Amino acid sequence: MMTEENIQTFDLNRIREDFPTLSRKVYGKPLIYLDNGATSQKPQVVIDAIEHYYTFDNSNIHRGVHHLSQEATTQYEDARVTIQKYINAPTSEEVLFTAGTTGGINLVSYSFGELLSKGDEIIISAMEHHSNIVPWQMLCERKGCKLKVIPINEKGDLIISDFEKLLNEKTKLVSVTHISNTLGTINPIKHIIDSAHKVGAKVLIDGAQSVQHMSVDVQALDCDFYVFSGHKVFGPTGVGILYGKKDILDSMPPYQGGGDMIDRVTFQKTTYNVLPHKFEAGTPNISGGIALGSAINYLAKQDLDAIQKHEHELGVYATKELNKIEGMRIIGTSKEKTSVVSFVIEGLHPFDIGTLLDKQGVAVRTGHHCTQPLMDFFKIPGTVRASFAFYNTMAEIDVFIKALNRSINMLR
Ligand SMILES: *Cc1c(COP(=O)(O)O)cnc(C)c1O
Repeated sequence: MMTEENIQTFDLNRIREDFPTLSRKVYGKPLIYLDNGATSQKPQVVIDAIEHYYTFDNSNIHRGVHHLSQEATTQYEDARVTIQKYINAPTSEEVLFTAGTTGGINLVSYSFGELLSKGDEIIISAMEHHSNIVPWQMLCERKGCKLKVIPINEKGDLIISDFEKLLNEKTKLVSVTHISNTLGTINPIKHIIDSAHKVGAKVLIDGAQSVQHMSVDVQALDCDFYVFSGHKVFGPTGVGILYGKKDILDSMPPYQGGGDMIDRVTFQKTTYNVLPHKFEAGTPNISGGIALGSAINYLAKQDLDAIQKHEHELGVYATKELNKIEGMRIIGTSKEKTSVVSFVIEGLHPFDIGTLLDKQGVAVRTGHHCTQPLMDFFKIPGTVRASFAFYNTMAEIDVFIKALNRSINMLR
């Protein structure tokens, strides 16, 4: 836990200086990076951590008796503890390094899935990312389980009364996103977790869009699994976290076999290593894990209340300015929203808008955002999505809106 004195006061200029990418230009224009939902930029401390590891400490972990290996192991395991504390996991053995959110969900769908049998039910929601849909469909095909979907309303809120009707004694797992990457909706996950537990189901929370925006306490939530990606929380790509409750992880068979995950191997029988190593076969992304620790340390030093207030203001201001544009339709109008604005403009294709914005230095995402069923629900092919991070400014939104108006005039 950070003490009060460790927290830096919110200073947007200083924060922006921490992120070298933010000062570059594209097509001769200052970069306005509004694609944080896809990936975040990296502060210098994260870049330095990767460089430092390969420059001075490079060696394999958990194996060597030699000095370098021990140093690398200590740094990697320290990062695990940093992350454990940040999400308030009870122990570091419940914090598994994965390749990312997708990696974590696939681990659970395969390994926890091995404990399921024909007729068991899994519940997801209509606003899930493909990586929280497809692994469950694959599991259902493999095991003969049934997939059920919590519907949403036009605002982009889950219909909770319908969720409660889907729950029964056959429900084994509920897997929902904390925050929608497309709509920005913040789901009432505490309520979902408590309801699911009443019928004995376990709950996985997809936190890919949460850790960068709010504090997450896995014990207070009482979720059984929580997953997120390093690269969306200012860390590197190719690394992520799966938190799981110890007794559940212990009951699950290993996901992948190989080095590091074993206790003793013979050709007759192999016994497995303890947590977390049981689920970490092979040489991991060592520099990635260490640098993710640096990213979380960086985040822990920020004034999260001030960040949330700032991000909220960015979202509200952008929404207000966007709504002045003729033919504007904002997709995702929940009262509980993070700083993501998805929209379509009558008669214009999102891709054309995105391309013209790019030429003016403004980076947004266009398309289905890996949520095709959600696009089908709203009967649209895709959206333009501006997703803000705490380093974005009100002035950047002004440039974005101006560039958007210019693009619309060119297309109309
Ligand atoms: C980005 C994202 C994912 C997938 O994350 P990867 O880093 O690509 O594994 C899953 N769910 C949500 C809500 C996301 O935003």
